[in-house]
Amino acid sequence: MITVEQAREAVLARIKRLPAVEVDILDTLGRVLAADISSDIDIAPFDNSAMDGYAVRAADVAGASEESPVVLDVVEHVAAGSFPVETVGAGQATRIMTGAPMPQGADAVVMVERTEALEAGGGAGGTAAIKAPVAVGENVRLRAEDVRTGDIVLSADEVVSAAAIGLMAAMGRPKASVYRRPRVAIVATGDELVGIDEYPGPGKIRNSNSYSLAAQVLAAGGEPHILPVARDNEADTRAILSRAPEFDLMVSTGGVSMGDFDVVKDVLEDIGVMDFWKVAMRPGAPQTYGTIGGTPFFGLPGNPTSTTVGFELFVRPAMRKMAGYGALERPTVQAVLTHDVKKKSDRRYFLRGRLTRTDDGYSVALSGSQSSAMLTSMHRANCLVSLAEGESFFSAGSIVTCIRLDIEEGVK
Ligand code: AMP
Ligand code: MG
Repeated sequence: MITVEQAREAVLARIKRLPAVEVDILDTLGRVLAADISSDIDIAPFDNSAMDGYAVRAADVAGASEESPVVLDVVEHVAAGSFPVETVGAGQATRIMTGAPMPQGADAVVMVERTEALEAGGGAGGTAAIKAPVAVGENVRLRAEDVRTGDIVLSADEVVSAAAIGLMAAMGRPKASVYRRPRVAIVATGDELVGIDEYPGPGKIRNSNSYSLAAQVLAAGGEPHILPVARDNEADTRAILSRAPEFDLMVSTGGVSMGDFDVVKDVLEDIGVMDFWKVAMRPGAPQTYGTIGGTPFFGLPGNPTSTTVGFELFVRPAMRKMAGYGALERPTVQAVLTHDVKKKSDRRYFLRGRLTRTDDGYSVALSGSQSSAMLTSMHRANCLVSLAEGESFFSAGSIVTCIRLDIEEGVK
């Protein structure tokens, strides 16, 4: 048996980044940029007003107050999208809307709340009372204050946020280059499995693992492909596992322990390479890994929670490496354990836990039964409580490490 770390290292050693693809910018959300993106324009493209109000010469209104407003002649009205033609001279102002270009001569904007239009009117003309002073540059957004033409605004290896997509749009980029999503083949094994649209007859169960795995693939940014169920015989299993090279990665579930009909390991050794088949952990020690025709292959154990935890620990980091992420792991937090836990000392335990905030940090309770056959407690969990090998008892009040399942990415 190898440790979780040894297994993870062996897995990642075989994983390479996928090629880059050019996609619509909305499809880049949460993905990793494969190339730098620079700007063809200044952002803002021109000096403009940050407020609705009056563009003025700050010196003219230095003495303005509620009690003794300064009255200015209004020479023009500019809305966002139009361009001013009049210059603001001494004693003059331009009525201006947020985002409208600053007129020549003006060096500040007084917000409308601190003014009063004395003679209303649509176009130029009229006067306005200014009731507060402004500093030079106040409420003015300068050309290129966010981005300068030619700047590299977004860099390769960055994860795309909603704001990054806004920047791409502002830079006139309808498409961007990101690493391809891993195409992941999912293979359930077992003579007992029936489809999810069937009522299970005697001795049968519905194939739930293909779907929980497909959902984990989606959540990890991959493209799931559910293949037909492999029945518990070598010929059927070989036929389906040998499709691995059509995909970036293949994940199977079940058929890897010591049962009479567990044939996945034999088939893997026959048509591919097996790196390991057992990891010192619970749930799900028979985690199997290798390659088939060069494609990484994960033979996860069949119990539903063993499958889910195996995916989380081994497949997800591999997929993230393929998709170009620097941070492969979930974030962890330290929490106070609320139960006593007994364990076998030769294995790392990953318990389903529910973290809650306390005044000075976090506490973690078990989210239900820890049987690997049960998924309800996995559903209720928001973390995996990692309990180290070498220990056989953790008392209530112990500080334990929790892998957060509710957050995508740890800080590198
Ligand atoms: P195995 O690892 O094949 O011995 O399976 C262990 C347990 O997980 C057995 O009780 C199986 O019935 C169950 N199991 C295996 N595959 C699936 C699946 N695709 N969906 C739900 N349960 C499964
Ligand atoms: Mg089986």
